[in-house]
Amino acid sequence: AARVPPDEDGDECLPQYRHLLSPDLLAGQVAFITGGGSGIGFRIAEIFMRHGCRTVIASRNLQRVSEASKKLVAATGQQCLPLSMDVRQPQTIAAAVDEALQEFKRIDILINGAAGNFLCPASALSFNAFKTVIDIDTMGTFNTSKVLFEKYFRDHGGVIVNITATLSYRGQALQVHAGAAKAAIDAMTRHLAVEWGPNNIRVNSLAPGPISGTEGFRRLGGKYAEQSELFSVIPLQRAGNKTEIAHSTLYLASPLSSYVTGTTLVVDGGSWLTSPNSFSALLGIASSSAK
Ligand code: NAP
Repeated sequence: AARVPPDEDGDECLPQYRHLLSPDLLAGQVAFITGGGSGIGFRIAEIFMRHGCRTVIASRNLQRVSEASKKLVAATGQQCLPLSMDVRQPQTIAAAVDEALQEFKRIDILINGAAGNFLCPASALSFNAFKTVIDIDTMGTFNTSKVLFEKYFRDHGGVIVNITATLSYRGQALQVHAGAAKAAIDAMTRHLAVEWGPNNIRVNSLAPGPISGTEGFRRLGGKYAEQSELFSVIPLQRAGNKTEIAHSTLYLASPLSSYVTGTTLVVDGGSWLTSPNSFSALLGIASSSAK
């Protein structure tokens, strides 16, 4: 039976943490985490730092990553470098990676967590809205991976974990943009695992289910689902939490998974297998969460 690790709702560090794995699992390593200033990415940064890793957290809003970095350093005693970049603009990624390498002299792990999402029927989705999600999620993952490859991983090896989703597995209603974008990333994971394996680079995806205490949960109707007891249809009968996603990411990023590449680890309590894909219920959530 699963013992659920505690979590905090907002972008705050855990008041207490009990190690399940060695605290020096990632000692000496450096992780570059896009979207590391909030939600799942923030918790991944914290859990990595609690296992001896130094981190770079990068997203558009410098104030957000700077404040997050202060909390992470205070809670873990590890170094965390906050940087501003836009995953849609390769030159900003290159500048951030240069700065990170100047500071830490190495990068061992890349977590592609930056993304944008919202509920919208395809018929109401503008051409530009679809393109924006593809630009941030799919292009952003490719851009950042390629910059890291050229600047460091090609010569030193590395580990890439792409945060994706299960939306495309059953064609989730109101999610053609994010489902298509994340499915493309899962394909990219396999292509890059094949091409970059000889450079000692492992590439995997991690697909979370509904994760409480996140922007994604709020925007995609998580609170409504919780109140309506919709999570009771999930085999594990609940939403997941950010610490659980961070733990599974830790597995994929660490030597525990040294022979794992080109795969997608689904971390959703079995959700996609059993959750309803109801167009009308989702439309109700979309209109109430837009208010
Ligand atoms: P979140 O807090 O909104 O995280 C998204 C992050 O991406 C933000 O920190 C944002 O920071 C950054 N970002 C957005 N656009 C960017 C850009 N153009 N360049 C650089 N950074 C950018 O969301 P979350 O819910 O924790 O989701 C984290 C990841 O998990 C995402 O990949 C999401 O698709 C995936 N996921 C989440 C759930 C869930 O239930 N929450 C379920 C399945 C998958 P700035 O605004 O500062 O740029």
